[in-house]
Amino acid sequence: LNRREPDYLAGLNPEQREAVLTTEGPLLVLAGAGTGKTRVLTTRIAHILNQRMAWGSQILAVTFTNKAAAEMKKRIHAFVPNFDGLPWMGTFHSVSARILRTHAELVDLKPQFTILDTDDQIRLIKQLLQAENIDEKRWPARQFAGMLDAWKNRGWLPRDVPASETGYFANGKGGKLYFDYQARLKTLNAADFGDLLLECIRLFRENPEVLAEYHRKFKYMLVDEYQDSNTAQYLWLRLLAQGKPASEANICVVGDDDQSIYGWRGAEVDNILRFESDFPGAKVIKLERNYRSTANILKAASTLIAFNEGRLGKTLHTDIAEGGELISFTQVYDSEEEARQIGEEIEQYQRQGEPLNSMAILVRASFQMREFEERFITLGLNYRVIGGPRFYERKEIRDALAYLRLVAQPADDLAFERIINVPKRGLGDTTVNMLTAIARHQQVPLLQAVRMMIETEDLKPKQRSTLRALVAQFDGWTYRADTLPPYQLVEHILEESGYMDMLAADKSAESEGRKENLKELSRSMEEFETLGGFLEHISLVMERDNVEATDAVTIMTLHSAKGLEFDTVFLPGWEDGTFPSQRSMDENGRAGLEEERRLGYVGITRGRKRVRISAAQNRRIHGLWQSAIPSRFIDELPPDAVEVTDRGSAYGGYGYGGGASSRFNKSDPFESVYETPGWQRARANQASRKGSGPLTIEGDLVARSVDLGGQSSGYALGDRVFHLKFGYGEVISIEGNKLTIDFEKAGTKKVLESFVKKG
Ligand code: ATP
Ligand code: MG
Repeated sequence: LNRREPDYLAGLNPEQREAVLTTEGPLLVLAGAGTGKTRVLTTRIAHILNQRMAWGSQILAVTFTNKAAAEMKKRIHAFVPNFDGLPWMGTFHSVSARILRTHAELVDLKPQFTILDTDDQIRLIKQLLQAENIDEKRWPARQFAGMLDAWKNRGWLPRDVPASETGYFANGKGGKLYFDYQARLKTLNAADFGDLLLECIRLFRENPEVLAEYHRKFKYMLVDEYQDSNTAQYLWLRLLAQGKPASEANICVVGDDDQSIYGWRGAEVDNILRFESDFPGAKVIKLERNYRSTANILKAASTLIAFNEGRLGKTLHTDIAEGGELISFTQVYDSEEEARQIGEEIEQYQRQGEPLNSMAILVRASFQMREFEERFITLGLNYRVIGGPRFYERKEIRDALAYLRLVAQPADDLAFERIINVPKRGLGDTTVNMLTAIARHQQVPLLQAVRMMIETEDLKPKQRSTLRALVAQFDGWTYRADTLPPYQLVEHILEESGYMDMLAADKSAESEGRKENLKELSRSMEEFETLGGFLEHISLVMERDNVEATDAVTIMTLHSAKGLEFDTVFLPGWEDGTFPSQRSMDENGRAGLEEERRLGYVGITRGRKRVRISAAQNRRIHGLWQSAIPSRFIDELPPDAVEVTDRGSAYGGYGYGGGASSRFNKSDPFESVYETPGWQRARANQASRKGSGPLTIEGDLVARSVDLGGQSSGYALGDRVFHLKFGYGEVISIEGNKLTIDFEKAGTKKVLESFVKKG
């Protein structure tokens, strides 16, 4: 029989082929950058589908970014054009969200639960701190958010966190805060990012029949970038793999210990080492041939990473033509000149016919991006920022999203608080605080509290009619959400709520941009059929991929560049303190420095043909000029693979290899601009923004309503009662928790029961 080999196997080297064909049993592919790990994963999926070993829906493939998942889908489509059903491909978080929505009730959520973003999270924590009388200046919400994140990354539910961990924050209140925080999330029908995994783990542990369902479902599991998985992700995988004896699990993980760059976010590179003991008999395949980069690039990367201790140790070689271009290292006067120079080089490559898509600028910290953006705008050079200040985090977009969230999920109090007085409706903090107190007391969402209150006379007539109109609008939007496509719904909402009028009245320079952004938001919704689908998308998708189509230079952080490749890579800002980051070194000492070095390795190995490193001699930090010393990593590059071009000589000398020891003793000038990639950075950015007004309970009225907390429905017709605002009166009718009272002075009014006491 003359069976032709499937096309997708052609061109693979023997080790890669073995990794593709070893579909049964546990497999670890441990290999350096650019050796085809991701390619092996994709080809495996193609192979499994092609050989009909499983349906698409029986394959679970976990990648690190949404972008990577999309890329994988594209490649698989190319290999196997018409396979049945898509594999489950996505990030740990997106797959978890999908599972959780299916079984939401089992973890005390409803299927359409909101995924909180960091802004909301901080707002929520602030409220809890307030409720506990914890001084937010001493114990910042942001700090607690970081602790929560760390606990969740370790797979700890509130009951699991050891006292040694909770004891520190707010003098021992950390544990209670975590409990309260989780309880609050359930009331809001919301989950934060860490919950997606944590609650999924709880779901599996507490519901063996649900887990068994997934054991039957997923025949093959694949994980890319395994070196960056954290404990929660590890537990999650272990649970899903338990359908078979460990030695027979069809789980394939690929990774590179030298590219572990998320230690600060709880990643455990040890997960790689543990794989062989967790899955006895696992096959381990090493790939050594790099298909991506020139010999000079590989040599530079390998030499640099060799300065790290405690590596698993791997060799890399390439067959790609003789050396290739040397790595360049250039010193410039300052970051402005750096941007100017890189801009010139990009234009020059462009004139030589190289597409902008093939070029990227990879920075250590997001504050470095602005200079490039400004320069490129001046030059009219197309660029896209990935992982930078993101579209969906802009104020007007977040306002619009809050309206949409509330339509989709009326219990979303954080969304309600955000928009109740945007545009201004004369509903100030006092009203909001009062509503919040009622909602708490009655244990209902805010919007529900509003519905109750507008039936009473506890509110001023003006506020009552405003709120009544707002509720009516929401009812209208909710009704139309079923029939209108989301992109039209948002336009209606923005018009009818008065949001567009507010922008029109705003003569500031920013308001035009805001209007454009809102238009862009509506455009971006066109591809979504349901509001729920759109909201799910934006809560998970961190990157802006809508500029993908145009030819543009990419500006991104080193962290988010993982797994990607570009012909030309610019690595600016290689100055000690910036890169390696001073903060990393201060906080984690040698381990911190090693993680920075791995970032350097990731950066260099993104380049296919050309890597251009630069450093500024002077950097402006908090308005002050400081002279900077080239990164110690420059000294660690092999001199014969590097060409030094000294553009900064006019401003002062610099000798290659002349690292000065004074660089070790700097204070940390980057404290407030330190980059933390992805959604965690968003948290840092947002922390500097103002959260919602603190939930202080102002005024006797509200205070009293809280005092009455324990009491309920103890009124009868004819009871004499006292109301703080209206004085004494007599109950003349009772309707649920609303009382109609004939007041001695104020006449007949309907009020909420909790606002009166027996007189
Ligand atoms: P990283 O560690 O950076 O994620 P990786 O190991 O996942 O890298 P890939 O991205 O899969 O590597 O592959 C790097 C490049 O080499 C890709 O462009 C890929 O298409 C190419 N490549 C991989 N294997 C082969 C092969 N056998 N023949 C030709 N090209 C290959
Ligand atoms: Mg890869």
